[in-house]
Amino acid sequence: MAIKIDYSKCCWKDGKCTSCSCGGKCKGCVEACPVGAIKRGKKVEIDKSKCIECGVCIGSCKHGAISI
Ligand code: SF4
Ligand code: SF4
Repeated sequence: MAIKIDYSKCCWKDGKCTSCSCGGKCKGCVEACPVGAIKRGKKVEIDKSKCIECGVCIGSCKHGAISI
């Protein structure tokens, strides 16, 4: 199993938030991850070497962009 991000649903694109509903503050997944495995650069990325597959980020994403 592995955590996956659906980039068509994720509002963080090209280094910025594109969602009018979160006012540029969407950090749900980044803040939720207990091991700091999620980073946002140009796009959101999960460091698979750190991820413990706990699934917390799935519930944190209000855009339903993360799945396992
Ligand atoms: S599954 Fe858990 S450890 Fe992995 S990226 Fe999501 S919150 Fe972080
Ligand atoms: S919480 Fe969801 S929409 Fe927001 S940055 Fe993370 S994956 Fe993208």
